[in-house]
Amino acid sequence: MALSTEYLTSAELFERALELIPGGVNSPVRAFRSVGGAPFFTRSAQASRLTTADGQELIDYVCTWGPAIHGHNRLEVREAIAQALNRGTSFGTPNPYEVAMAERVVELVPSVEKVRMVNSGTEATMSAIRLARGYTKRNKIIKFAGCYHGHVDSLLVAAGSGALTLGTPDSAGVPPSFAAETIVLPYNDVAALEAAFAEHPDEIAAIIVEPYPANCGLILPLPGYLQKLRDVCTQHGTVLIFDEVMTGFRVALGGVQEREGVTPDLTALGKIIGGGLPVGAFGGKAEIMDLLAPLGPVYQAGTLSGNPLAMAAGVAALDLLITEDPYTRLEAAGAQIRDALEGVAKELGLPLQVPQVGSMFALFFTEAPVTQFESALTSDKSMFNTVFHYALENGVYLPPSAYETCFISTAHTNSDIEQTIEVLCHGMKEITR
Ligand code: PMP
Repeated sequence: MALSTEYLTSAELFERALELIPGGVNSPVRAFRSVGGAPFFTRSAQASRLTTADGQELIDYVCTWGPAIHGHNRLEVREAIAQALNRGTSFGTPNPYEVAMAERVVELVPSVEKVRMVNSGTEATMSAIRLARGYTKRNKIIKFAGCYHGHVDSLLVAAGSGALTLGTPDSAGVPPSFAAETIVLPYNDVAALEAAFAEHPDEIAAIIVEPYPANCGLILPLPGYLQKLRDVCTQHGTVLIFDEVMTGFRVALGGVQEREGVTPDLTALGKIIGGGLPVGAFGGKAEIMDLLAPLGPVYQAGTLSGNPLAMAAGVAALDLLITEDPYTRLEAAGAQIRDALEGVAKELGLPLQVPQVGSMFALFFTEAPVTQFESALTSDKSMFNTVFHYALENGVYLPPSAYETCFISTAHTNSDIEQTIEVLCHGMKEITR
């Protein structure tokens, strides 16, 4: 079947899309509002590269916002989907792929004794929060400024202030009364954490955290901080939820919890676990998970949850990670980019920091040490935008916002990495012109 839109250019597609889809996009950051200009449309993607509707090839550091750890269109994943497709696209009954998926997640992710599949990261965090509230019979939750957990009402609260604040909603349409149950704290700030528990000792159902916050650039925990979250939760009977939608299977097979040796009570997963199809999952201690319907009183459901195509893609993606164990190589590629960019920035006198962990890295153009949202915001957006546009014109696609994380895949070759470094270094020279 030929699509009527198949041979249109990006500009033609965007013009039509603007009339049909709010902002022309199905997810806001794709609209290039932050970097300026119009987005390109992707016609196809293979390995480390996107091919745009205009025929340009781009080395891709967005990797579909994280899922494509094997690069695009990896043969083994495609074959797994094709095999599942021959058997049908959706059954509405339990299927064998769901059990295969659950076996892998329980084996790989330290905190997970039982897991339930959903269709997105948003559903995963939303359900984990509901479960934590049901388990503790408390209402308040703590989140951290700058952490993103999907577009769940009570989590769309980011409060820019570094002080302890009761949340106000970030989006129209979220009742202030919902947001009032959300306490927003600065990440990496032990005193603020202790103050929140001192003020609300028996009221906090859960702390939800991206253990490596990666939705305001990339921020790493100060030594002992994640363990402190664990200890405070244990002490107060609060459920610790790690949102590993981005970091799960990305920074290690077992995510940040494996890397840092800190075990949460519940974990939200997404992205890589779907092998490029729409999937999320949440799991954790059996004692908590068994409160879900049909066993317990916490309701949660999904028509397409555990979809066989999505499960087949995810299982294939996870099996490749298990057999290939690419993490050392990805870490080296990330460090190579970090060292090269920081080195050139120093020569140019630019205040660049490249926080990096494994295959994730970000560019902060600021002298200030970035340990939380407020310091991330000191990054010079216009410098990032200059590098972004130079890179895009020269075949390298970075995330279209100064506050997103870049991802490297196993399909990025040494020559891709070298080419990228060269382009980004030239891009930084454009700033100094
Ligand atoms: N949590 C984190 C840490 C994320 O990065 C995201 C998406 N970027 C989500 C949750 C939401 O996932 P989804 O977009 O699949 O709903």
